[in-house]
Amino acid sequence: MKLRIGYGLFLLAVTFNGMSAPADPSRDILYQASTINALLAGYYDGILSCGELTRQGDIGLGTFDGLDGEMIVLDRIVYQVTSDGAVQTVSSALMVPFANVTFFDPDETFAMHNINSLDQLQKELDRHLINRNVFYAIRIDGTFPAVKVRSVAKQSKPYPKLADAVKNQSVFELSNVKGTLVGFWCPEFIQALNVPGFHLHFLADDRRRGGHVLDCRLAEGKVSLDPTAAFTIQLPEKGFGQLDPGGNHSEELNAVER
Ligand SMILES: [Zn+2]
Repeated sequence: MKLRIGYGLFLLAVTFNGMSAPADPSRDILYQASTINALLAGYYDGILSCGELTRQGDIGLGTFDGLDGEMIVLDRIVYQVTSDGAVQTVSSALMVPFANVTFFDPDETFAMHNINSLDQLQKELDRHLINRNVFYAIRIDGTFPAVKVRSVAKQSKPYPKLADAVKNQSVFELSNVKGTLVGFWCPEFIQALNVPGFHLHFLADDRRRGGHVLDCRLAEGKVSLDPTAAFTIQLPEKGFGQLDPGGNHSEELNAVER
């Protein structure tokens, strides 16, 4: 169920008639900055600010100008995990080359227990993705015996391709940590624009650890899913015309994301 304050009266009337409230269409949109193929090609110049990004959603993931670490957006706060593993909140002026956000209004929640790998987690989640042709925003709050995360270092120009930049990624093995997985599932047909399948980032409850998730074990958690059928994309303007934004880069993407 979606609602926001401005819809109070309308909502009251509808609920009184015993019907469920309508989704607020302005909230139920997956917003995206740039394309995954642009990022793969080394397009790391920010195209909008974190302040502008959080006007489009309160949960999500991405990276920062110059590929300066991993982004987690949670409860409308933007967190940056830098390559040394430190987590900080950022200035609203910090620029963003690639990100996805949405306003999180979960339609389904369920418990999950005793998950031994990211593969197993994805298989369990997969059973709940009823419509394979829409996006899902995912939030999992839980207790994790282990989470393997990575972050990337800020790059300097001329920017290398993403596959080369991540060769120097930092990997952190967290153990016995409470926290939140945040991310998305995208349909197969999204390739060239985004990562088909799952893409998850992690933020610890203490807000001191996190990153792009490479593997995890989950003792127990609460999963919330928000299926989203609308999609808005902001393409880069400067320099984007010189890139080849098409093509299937799934092998390169696998090397970079998994
Ligand atoms: Zn990521």
